Amino acid sequence: MATHFSCTLCGNCCRDLRLPLSIDEAIRWLTHSGRVELFCEAIPWPEEPPADDRQAHYRRERSFVATSGALPVRVVVTLVASFNGPCPNLQADQRCGAYETRPNVCRIYPAEVNPFVELDPASKSCPPDAWTADQPVFIDGGRLVDAETAALIDVARSNAVRDVAAKQHLCALLGCHTASLANEGFAIHSPDRDRLLAALNAVRDAASTPQPHTVAAPWSFVSNRRATLDTLTSIGAPCVPAGDTAAFDGSYLNFFPAD
Ligand code: SF4
Ligand code: SF4
Repeated sequence: MATHFSCTLCGNCCRDLRLPLSIDEAIRWLTHSGRVELFCEAIPWPEEPPADDRQAHYRRERSFVATSGALPVRVVVTLVASFNGPCPNLQADQRCGAYETRPNVCRIYPAEVNPFVELDPASKSCPPDAWTADQPVFIDGGRLVDAETAALIDVARSNAVRDVAAKQHLCALLGCHTASLANEGFAIHSPDRDRLLAALNAVRDAASTPQPHTVAAPWSFVSNRRATLDTLTSIGAPCVPAGDTAAFDGSYLNFFPAD
């Protein structure tokens, strides 16, 4: 079944957002627009998945290897520009004030970057009249029709893989070693702007950074769920309850209620 779409220029997608950024985009955002945070999650990785597990392979390419106590994990770090209300670049006439240099994700919306996530119009900010059958076909048979958007998605996917080593080094530089359990929430680290900008510039060229695999900082998990904390602790992973601000100086974005 085809999905039809055309942007109505309503501006809804420029409010109350968490924009994932590449390292280059994060440097630009910090310099011109606002703050950037590190959203960290970790996937227990006791053994390599089968070669034909495409989803695991996708995660593997976008994560770096680490340990949490006795537990091998892979850590996914996402650089995020967060804002409540209008984007700092949104002008009074609802146009983007940084149009030429806006993040790639702004150009891709409402399409999905993750190939394992199906576009669900109900989950998007676009109004109903953007999706009516008289609009151009956007997705046909699971494939994006617009070649320009498809090319931008390819760039976003490549950048996510390219940036992994630099993000590992970034976490080491900033001392960020606490992650959520993947798919349960995010551990959010919010370094001071100048410190983060200096660290991002230092790791920008991943090829010139020290080999990240020599950095062996142990990671901890943070969670708001007792069962998660108990399970991870039982397999040797150090854990921090989400409310323990003395042990974790970031914040926790929970997908599930605390138990
Ligand atoms: S950078 Fe521009 S397009 Fe992206 S959210 Fe902000 S105002 Fe909207
Ligand atoms: S929310 Fe959808 S329709 Fe509205 S401006 Fe953004 S992409 Fe266009």
